Amino acid sequence: MVRQQSFPPPQRLLLGPGPSMVHPRVLQAMSTPLVGHLDPAFLTIMEENKRLLRWLFGTANEITIPISGTGSAGMETSLVNLLEPGDEAIVCVKGLFGQRMAEVARRCGAQVKEVQAPWGRIVDAADVRTALRGCRKPKVLAVVHAETSTGVLQPLADLATLAREHEALFVVDTVTSLGGHPVRVDDWGIDVAYSGTQKCLSAPPGLAPVTVSPAALSVIHQRRQPVQSWYLDVSLLSQYWGTERVYHHTAPISMNYALLEALRLIEAEGLEARWQRHKRNHEALAAGLNALGIEFASQEGHRLWTLNCIGVPEGVDETGVRRALLDEFGIEIGAGLGPFKGRTWRIGLMGESSTAANVLAVLSALECVLPRFGFRVEAGIAVAAAQRVLAQAKD
Ligand SMILES: *Cc1c(COP(=O)(O)O)cnc(C)c1O
Repeated sequence: MVRQQSFPPPQRLLLGPGPSMVHPRVLQAMSTPLVGHLDPAFLTIMEENKRLLRWLFGTANEITIPISGTGSAGMETSLVNLLEPGDEAIVCVKGLFGQRMAEVARRCGAQVKEVQAPWGRIVDAADVRTALRGCRKPKVLAVVHAETSTGVLQPLADLATLAREHEALFVVDTVTSLGGHPVRVDDWGIDVAYSGTQKCLSAPPGLAPVTVSPAALSVIHQRRQPVQSWYLDVSLLSQYWGTERVYHHTAPISMNYALLEALRLIEAEGLEARWQRHKRNHEALAAGLNALGIEFASQEGHRLWTLNCIGVPEGVDETGVRRALLDEFGIEIGAGLGPFKGRTWRIGLMGESSTAANVLAVLSALECVLPRFGFRVEAGIAVAAAQRVLAQAKD
């Protein structure tokens, strides 16, 4: 038996829940020479990253910076800076990442009230209203916009209104929506939003863009005690990312190059065009899956364009299919999590991964593999259905 070499790694088509495919220009940017983290050239790159992130988030927030760390570091930054022991926080939980937000908030010492929805469904704004009314003084209302564990897109308008009415800060996880779905921080009244580089921004994992509104900033400045995390303390970080340029920690230089190049690619494509691309490719994939008789696990009308969470057909070996896609076609798709483990697959179409060619490739590979696992497929039926959607979109 020939042992597969692990490094250099194999070429994969990344169609899972992240990381997504990275454009060659972004990989190239990472291999360019290092400069110091206070070099005037690097300061220019930092300013450019802040400007492009503000544009991407749809915000004028001064504090709009990439945190050193993955998406979870963005989550942690958002919550540790706002919450102090005893504060009341409402966290919407409809999947794994909502659960994680609630856990982080509890570790801040906050009194956390979870507003739950079944996996695969959105959280009901009426339930959030009830929870807010039961609070003395809710400080934070937190929600995941694009729940990657279930493929659900949470509507934010009603929740934003509720947060405003109860004078709670509105914190939104946009890890799987930013760069794939519309996100408009200022128009929608979001106080703190965070994301990650390896989902719809199509850079490697390693930075977490975060934006903080002036209202949230003034709450941070009025804290009774220092933020428990020195590393993620926004007040300290803003002295490095602001005009003072005070050393805090060594910025991950190459990752900031990667982010800049990824943001430039997004700017060149344009946001509207990018959202339309994600929508069209999701619709093509959905048509193909529908032709196969494979159903979505996420609520109709609230499905992500960026992550397709679908049911594993009855009797089919969930891991066997994923393994065959990986070994024979080099295609990675994701497994289910939590209560969806063993019952769902997650096909990501994020950023550079969201192309017509990739939709056709994964459907074609599924048509090849599924019959071997006892699931009958009429050859070509899924690819043809996707092609029809793609052809219509071209007209
Ligand atoms: C991926 C993800 C995270 C966590 O990001 P990491 O980069 O894995 O730390 C948080 N929230 C959502 C919705 C995600 O999809």
